[in-house]
Formats: sequence, structure tokens, C-alpha cells
Amino acid sequence: MKIALIAHDKKKPDMIQFATAYKTILEKHEIFATGTTGLRIAEATGLSIYRFKSGPLGGDQEIGAMIAQNKMDLVIFFRDPLTAQPHEPDVTALLRLCDVYSIPLATNMGTAEILIHGLARGELSWREIVHGKEAESHD
Ligand code: PGA
Repeated sequence: MKIALIAHDKKKPDMIQFATAYKTILEKHEIFATGTTGLRIAEATGLSIYRFKSGPLGGDQEIGAMIAQNKMDLVIFFRDPLTAQPHEPDVTALLRLCDVYSIPLATNMGTAEILIHGLARGELSWREIVHGKEAESHD
């Protein structure tokens, strides 16, 4: 599964705690992240992470593009609800695309824990069926 991890600055400690706690689950998957979030997680956990640009510089939009191509299976986005973001339109667009494509999305630790346990139990394997159908339609 392809998993996107994004955290606004005040939520980065939460993301590092999350990635550290669930490293053994995350390392079985392909991890993507916005620039700074990815760097901080990689430094803290040693996980191998594909890093896009920093969020305010277009990283959220790069992840959004993957969602639009049905190439992202799970998004964990610890956003900061108490601080105005310069790239708020990009944040909104990313959340919107998750809804357009029915991509499982967590915006806080409580939901992220449920999703990661679901992932570990194979409850997101329906995403592989979606990918299989896509491949058939391109044949
Ligand atoms: P960052 O971007 O990981 O580069 O800090 C996150 C964001 O603000 O969307």
C-alpha cells in the first residue's frame, strides 16, 4: 500500500510519535511524505520515505496528484486546526480529493490509530481490488 504522511509544524511531534509507534507496520508499505515531515520521520525512525516538496511549496499538491491518479491508498494528515496556513487552499484541495476518490484519510491521532490497526489487519486490501480493476481497464 502507498501511504502519505503529512503534518503541519505544530503536529510534527505527534507524527513522529505515531511513526515511531507504528514503524513495524509502516515499514511493510511504501511511505510518501511532504518534505519536512518526511525528513523528520526518517531521522527519527530510519524508515525509507519518498519525500515530495515541502507542503507550502507544492508538496500537498503533489500528493493530491497521486490521489487523482488513484496511486495513494491511505492519507494520514495531522493538520493544525489552530494556526492559519499560507497554503490553506492546497490543504483543502487534498482533503477534497480524498473524498472524491474515497481514500481513507485521518486528520488526527485518534483516527490514524484506527486506520493503522485496520491496515495491519488487512482491512484496506479492497484497495488492491481497485488497483486490479484499473489494470484490467487499461488492458
Ligand atoms: P512539510 O509540509 O512536511 O514540508 O512541513 C507539510 C504541510 O505544511 O503541508
